[in-house]
Amino acid sequence: MKDVPSRPRSPRTLAVHAGTRRSQYGEVSEALFLTQGFVYDSAEAAEARFLQAGREEFIYARYGNPTVAMFEDRIAALEGTEDAFATASGMAAVNGALVSMLRAGDHVVAGRALFGSCLYILDEVLPRFGVQVTLVDGTDLAAWEGAIRPDTKAVFFESVSNPALEVIDIAAVARLAHAVGATVICDNVFATPAFSRAVDLGVDVVVYSTTKHVDGQGRCLGGVICGTKEFVRKVAEPYLKHTGGSMSPFNAWVMLKGLETMDLRVRAQAETCWRLAERLDGHPKLARVIHPHLPSHPQSTLARAQMEKGGTVLSLDLAGGKEAAFRFLNALEIVVISNNLGDAKSIATHPATTTHQRLPEDQKAALGITPGLVRLSVGLEDAEDLIADVTAALDAA
Ligand SMILES: *Cc1c(COP(=O)(O)O)cnc(C)c1O
Repeated sequence: MKDVPSRPRSPRTLAVHAGTRRSQYGEVSEALFLTQGFVYDSAEAAEARFLQAGREEFIYARYGNPTVAMFEDRIAALEGTEDAFATASGMAAVNGALVSMLRAGDHVVAGRALFGSCLYILDEVLPRFGVQVTLVDGTDLAAWEGAIRPDTKAVFFESVSNPALEVIDIAAVARLAHAVGATVICDNVFATPAFSRAVDLGVDVVVYSTTKHVDGQGRCLGGVICGTKEFVRKVAEPYLKHTGGSMSPFNAWVMLKGLETMDLRVRAQAETCWRLAERLDGHPKLARVIHPHLPSHPQSTLARAQMEKGGTVLSLDLAGGKEAAFRFLNALEIVVISNNLGDAKSIATHPATTTHQRLPEDQKAALGITPGLVRLSVGLEDAEDLIADVTAALDAA
């Protein structure tokens, strides 16, 4: 695909072609440049490259690498941002996006329902360096309005929360943040890059754990920060390349190939997820089925407007509490018990005793993490097989 296409390209096309760099051999499939360093033709060339490296000139893999650059360009094209920086994990991306732009005295507002490690950065790391952090109920616009101040530098939220699947009104929060000139940073994992509308809705910096749907096959850790050229190259990159958060070329190659099939995979997973949600809604063993598009979800209208298909995760609240949840988990035959999500294999997680084990009981309750709650990440297995597996396990619960 030419750098400047004659017609606009759709995401499916970009996911296969964008960012491709071919070596002198003209390979069809993207090459894995598994190299730490790069040779200079002369001492003068080395000097010149250190002074100002061009877009296709590399120095050291922590600074950049052709395979990593292909992945960055491809996901930026998909997300609709000017640029992207690939990181060693999703957490390196969250940490990099926040720490690179903040300094002592700054104020941040964040939605309270956060992935455990994100909460650690906001609640423990940033305050230690003099950044003030206000956590709010992300679904409450009045709370955002009350917390955002003239000196607020950034707002941070997970567009769909884990595991209660609360939905943030991205456009409304972005409007409040932009009114005071704050940067809007969105951890968009649960929306997935396939269904993301983050940039259209006003997000400035979109962060993904590519460990999830981008790899999509449970192999490698990775993350990415998508934003303007100015933010990515002048703010995030200097911090990340000097502190060691860069993505390895091997992982970038896995992610790059993952992007080619991501849209197909994620749509199939989301379709099965929705069928499961519809089939299980009202099941006598379940106090609640949580899926953003179910009419019983308090924000289903917002979720339908903001997120096509409603994602690949649903949560089941077993009426019989922890004992029933454990009996259910142990009776599953296809769905595996683990804590990842976005994998080709369906995965069941009991947040109260694993990912959110260390949260105090009142915080668990505030986040909707009941003893009976099981998070189900829906994979690529046959939908009817999965429905049969889950309903048989519910019978056993
Ligand atoms: C998994 C996840 C992360 C962290 O990603 P890693 O790749 O495990 O570092 C951050 N935020 C959300 C919402 C996640 O699901």
